[in-house]
Amino acid sequence: MSAALAEKTAPAKVAGVQTVLEARDLVRYYEVQRGLFGGKGLVKALDGVSFSLEAGKTLAIVGESGCGKSTLARLLTLIELPTEGRLLIDGIDVTGAHGAQLKALRRRVQMVFQNPYGSLNPRQTIGSTLEEPLLVNTDTPAEERRVAAMAMLAKVGLRPEHHGRYPHMFSGGQRQRIAIARALMLNPKILVLDEPVSALDVSVRAQVLNLLADLQDEFGLAYVFVSHDLSVVRHIADDVAVMYLGRAVEHGTAEAIFAKPRHPYTRALLSATPMADPTRQKQRIILTGDLPSPFAPPPGCTFHPRCPIADQERCRAEVPVLRDVDGALTACHLAV
Ligand code: SF4
Repeated sequence: MSAALAEKTAPAKVAGVQTVLEARDLVRYYEVQRGLFGGKGLVKALDGVSFSLEAGKTLAIVGESGCGKSTLARLLTLIELPTEGRLLIDGIDVTGAHGAQLKALRRRVQMVFQNPYGSLNPRQTIGSTLEEPLLVNTDTPAEERRVAAMAMLAKVGLRPEHHGRYPHMFSGGQRQRIAIARALMLNPKILVLDEPVSALDVSVRAQVLNLLADLQDEFGLAYVFVSHDLSVVRHIADDVAVMYLGRAVEHGTAEAIFAKPRHPYTRALLSATPMADPTRQKQRIILTGDLPSPFAPPPGCTFHPRCPIADQERCRAEVPVLRDVDGALTACHLAV
């Protein structure tokens, strides 16, 4: 994606609105070995993604497994750096940051993982788990760490006696509350939520989503909500970016995308999403074939082998760029 287009794909800035996260044409390639004698090749896990996110807002990143969502989450949390492109946190470009500045930026973005069972140390009490980020990253005295952990337990709906208990003594929903509490201990501005409710029972999901909404209001947090589940995204997102093979194929407000998806891939994803309103009829769009390998993506529009409306000549030859289609950015030659 060109720099000009990267500018174009970021929502317009409004006076007084604080942009806390900006991705400009982010690229992440991995060099891999092609079999025993095949030489080296490049996997384009992320191939030019741009967006901006304001304090107090939620951007959902959706798509099938293998679309680049998890790679993007690793870049946003500075676990990895981009191969190309720029990532700005509070206006500071992380690709040029080092030492103390990079450490400070890392504290501003925290992550909550999908599996609350696997993300907590079974041998650590909840109090110790919550105090650890303060112990490692700050010089907060022990008593203040304890007070801060107790306060955070209350914020996420847990009780003071939970401080000395171990993860196995909690339900899945409570563990995810603990994981959220731990992510907030360093007072971040941005949370990257990687499928945060998909491992939870349906009955518990709404409670955790409500908690996330309350915490966002209270702390002005910006969320990047990574999910394959559009029924969840619909309730939490302000903006949605639909990804396919490392690129955004549609990007706009949640309202615009759910009311009228422009890209055939978005339409297929939405057609597979259960709707609360049974009076709204919809026809399921079945995509044929699997997601192609990012090792050898199809030419032209990478979606063309699965696209139900592809113009085989044009779509095989020309890469569609994101353009404004009736209020949402869409990468499809035929979208109107
Ligand atoms: Fe389908 Fe062509 Fe649009 Fe790609 S560009 S989504 S193949 S119609």
